[in-house]
This record gives sequence, C-alpha cells and structure tokens, in this order.
Amino acid sequence: MLKTHNCGELRVEHAGQQVVLAGWVNRQRDQGGVIFIDLRDRWGITQVVANAADAPEAHAVASDARSEYVLQVRGTVRVRPEGTANPDLPTGQIEVVAQEIKLLNASKTPPFYINKDEKIDEARRMQYRYLDLRRPSMQQNIVLRHRMVKFIRDYLDAHGFVEIETPILFKTTPEGARDFLVPSRLQPGKFYALPQSPQQLKQLLMVAGYERYFQIARCFRDEDLRGERQPEFTQLDLEMSFVEREDVMQMIEGLVTALAETVVPEKPLKWKPFPRLTYTEAMEKYGSDKPDLRYGLEAVDISDIAGKSGFAVFTANVADGKPVKAMRVPGAANVSGTQLRKDTADLEALVRSVGAKGLAWMALPVNENEEVKGPVGKYFTVDQKLQLVERLGAQGGDLILFLSDKREVVYDAVDILRRTLADKYNLADPNVLAFIWIIDFPLFLWDAENQRWDPSQHMFTLPMPEDIPLLDSDPGKARGTQYDLVCNGYEAGGGSIRIHDRALQEKIFPLIGQTMEHAKEQFGHMLEAFEYGTPPHGGLAIGVDRLAMLFAGVPNIREVIAFPKTQTGSDLMAHAPSPAEPGQLEELGIAVVVEDKEEAVEKSS
Ligand code: ASP
Repeated sequence: MLKTHNCGELRVEHAGQQVVLAGWVNRQRDQGGVIFIDLRDRWGITQVVANAADAPEAHAVASDARSEYVLQVRGTVRVRPEGTANPDLPTGQIEVVAQEIKLLNASKTPPFYINKDEKIDEARRMQYRYLDLRRPSMQQNIVLRHRMVKFIRDYLDAHGFVEIETPILFKTTPEGARDFLVPSRLQPGKFYALPQSPQQLKQLLMVAGYERYFQIARCFRDEDLRGERQPEFTQLDLEMSFVEREDVMQMIEGLVTALAETVVPEKPLKWKPFPRLTYTEAMEKYGSDKPDLRYGLEAVDISDIAGKSGFAVFTANVADGKPVKAMRVPGAANVSGTQLRKDTADLEALVRSVGAKGLAWMALPVNENEEVKGPVGKYFTVDQKLQLVERLGAQGGDLILFLSDKREVVYDAVDILRRTLADKYNLADPNVLAFIWIIDFPLFLWDAENQRWDPSQHMFTLPMPEDIPLLDSDPGKARGTQYDLVCNGYEAGGGSIRIHDRALQEKIFPLIGQTMEHAKEQFGHMLEAFEYGTPPHGGLAIGVDRLAMLFAGVPNIREVIAFPKTQTGSDLMAHAPSPAEPGQLEELGIAVVVEDKEEAVEKSS
C-alpha cells in the first residue's frame, strides 16, 4: 500500500507515530515558511504541515501543489499546537508534519469545486461525473447505497433466501413500459428484449423449487424519464413460495424496518408497524395511491352537508353523484385579507391546472366575534358550518378548501393541493420516513383509448380469491392481491401474490386485449410451466435507487446512481447513445432509416 493510514483515522493517540498518507489536495494554504495542506481521501481530511526549515524538499513540492493534485506524504503525527485544533474535523486535534512529499499526479483545475458543496450545473456534473463523484457528499450517497445493499443481502441470507442472477438478454417482460431491444448477430432479424423486471424468471424459479429467491436486479424500461426515473434502475427483486399476501408483507416490513434503523438511524420511522390503507381509502382521502403521510391535509367527504347547503354547484353535483370534499389547512387563514385572496387565487389556479372547475373556500376567523370569510360561507347555515368544523376538526385561523367534481378530477386536485401546501407550509419533515402499505388495488384500470383493461400491476397478479368470479361478470370491480410499499409520497416497492394456475392465467389475456395466439407466443413458457406443479407464490420488488434517494434525503435518484443518464437518456460523459459503426450494423443485418435528429438539423442548417 502507498499509505499506512487513511486521512480520516488519525487521533491524538497516534501522536509521535511515523505515518504515510496518500490522497488529494483539498486545500493548500501557503504561509511562506510553512505550508498547510488538507489532504483528502475517501475517509476524511488530515492537515499536513510542510516546514521550509525542517524539510525543504517537501516544502517545495507542497508549494507547487494545487487543488486535486495527488500526493503521498511521509511524516510524523503531532498534536496541534494550543488553540489551533479544528473541532469540526474528526482529525482536527492532530496534524502530520511532513518529512517527505511525493507528487503522484498533478491535476488540471477542475471544472467545479470538489471541496465545496455548491450548486453545480447538472450537465457539467454529468460530463465530469468522475469528479462529481469525488465530492464528499456524493461519496456519502454512494457508500450509503453500498451499506443498504450489503444489509439487504445479509438479512435475506439469514432468512433463507438465495440470490440468483437472471439474464439481461431475454424476452419481453412487460411492466407497462416499452422494451429495449438488442439485435441478435447470430440470428439476424431477431431481437432480445432487456428485462423490464425479472418477473417471469423469478416465478419460474418458484416452479423450479427455490422457494425463497432474491436478486439485486437491473431493470430496463424505455419510457419518458421523470425526476425519479432512469432507463435502467435497480430493484431488490424477491419471490417466495407457499405464501399469502400477509407473509410477504411481514417479511418485507421486517427487512425495511431493520434496514432503515441500521443504515439511517438518524431518520426515525413514523410508524411501526406500517399502517395499511386500501387503494380506495388512499384515493378518497389523499387523491393518490402513493400519498405522503408525513403530514395530514386529508380530504374529508362532506357531500351530505354540502348537498343540503344553499350553494347550487354543490347541490347539483351531489344530486349527480359527484362528491364534495373539504380539506382543512391549519392556520392558513391567519393572514391579511389581501394575502388570503392571493393565496386562494393561487390555489384555485393550481386545481384548474388539473382540470377542476374551481375552488371554493372558507376562512375561519381567529377571533370568535368575526365572520367566516370566503365565497361560499353565506350558503351554509350556522348549523351546517358547525357540522363542517366538527367533521374537519377545524380551528380558528384554518382555511377550509372545497372541491367538487368528477371523482377523478377531485383526486387529482386533492393530490396537487396536498403536495403544494405541504411544500408551502413545510409540513413534510425531511428526516422522517413514513412507510405505509397500500392494498386492495383494482386488478385492472380501464384504458379508454384502446378500449381494454390494463393490469394495474401486471398480468401475473392473482385476483383476490373472492373476486375471481368478477372476471366474468364485472372485471372492473375485481381487486388484486397487489400490495405497494409507499414512503414519503413515493412508491418504494410493490408486488403481489401470483396466478399459479394455467386456466386462470389464460383468462386474463383476452381481458387485457391480448389474443391467445400472441399470449402463447410471448408467454407460452410460463403457461407450460404452470402445468408442472407450480407452488402458490408471491413476491415484490423494491426500488433500490428510490429507497437510497429517500434514505440519503436527496431530491432525485441521479444523486444515488454512480453513472446515471440525463432526462433524454444520454450519458454526457461517454456520449451514449451514439451511432453504430457501419460494419456492426451490416453484421446485424440492420439498416438505419431514421436519421439522428440532431445531425439532421445540423446538416440542413
Ligand atoms: N415485477 C414487479 C415490478 O417490477 C414487482 C413484483 O411484482 O414483484 O414492479
């Protein structure tokens, strides 16, 4: 080794020892006869002192050293002189007095500061990702991720799970996105699909008798990218045999609880055990199947009260079967009249952006003698207002928002209101992890455009046993055995008990618009396997990137992936994707007919 110690480990008890350190120049301060260098490596920072009088050669190297130069330092540990200790640094009590400093490599001036946490242009970070990753905050994220995966592996091993790798070159494994295709050279004209998840393979491993499988699996989905999405991402993929929904949920809850408490003990779990909400409850109360429950802002149905009010919009809607919901925003009315009008106008514009026709509101006075403010107050009798206040648990100074529309519109409006208000009033504690389960999802969602049912999870999800008859009579009413793990407004994972019976599986295909012929072509191996003693089984997948993002408290998953893609799916460092060599295409029997859009623009201009 080129070092005897790392830059984070020396303490007062090492005083007097000869050590060799190696790392990067975090900072150099030249005070003439004495130069201080903060030497940084993965473990920390140690102050090195080069004294011109005692070690002129070392001093000369130190004098030339610039930020990010790579140095090796041989020296003696000493306790820092009285009054110069740095309490912010774990090594701040000591310094290393250099006898010899070797320049291992120089560095150009980096395009951004490595030693400061400041806002850096995202494209620059991606182009120089190796420097971005050198920044201590990124190193922390990447190491946190490592610790998570290590914990998961150990925990599952201790619980009898076997880690099994499944192929990347495979066949379509639909999870609702487009496949990435890989052309076959040996069989020109044919393609592999990169797995959207190991779903079929893990089910086949249950047929094969492994009973408890897991994998830290890379998944590939060609879809439009949003903040928390990447074309390739990592899942903890898991499957168990001879289980019911409860067994899988218990196993995962145990794992996630232990994981969070071990890896991020500073982030408390809001609940143990995790609360469970049905899909319908979640939608009705929070307008989302992945609600952030670090805060309240619950939508409460007040159709019965509003239907008897004098407000024609509400009474007509209620008569029409449309709900009226109210949300209490604590303390939000405790502002000036002008501010209140502005706030409510902003909120109205917000709900209009998701299709709502308007937003009614009532501001409860702080002072009991004052009147309720807002456009709808006058349509409610005193008694109705009291009923409202009681149902919402509202207090003076609260703002009450009302929404009434088609159910789906109300859901969207409630969701966007909750997110926006939580932001505005800082209601979501960034240090809390609020894990919840969502269960009893509908098995299918209606796809109006294609006039068919879409699986709300995937086509292998077992319907709730008591709902199986509904597949024939009223598929939209059938619930699935799906369970989603949600944390702080993100879907952290999801899974289900699977169909393990060929006849039942065959029933699903026509409902989701697949001909039996096509289904056999794509999934014939699954159907066949179901005829060879398939055990009842179920499992789940957890998004490792997303969980790491939540644990690290960063705003998107690019912060916890070493080499992520941009929003347009590019790697700005290596310039992927890029055109293929003509020879490669020829070998594959492929002709490119669509020109690269950027090149086409360049050519034509
Ligand atoms: N394959 C599913 C997914 O990727 C998870 C599961 O059902 O186990 O979402």
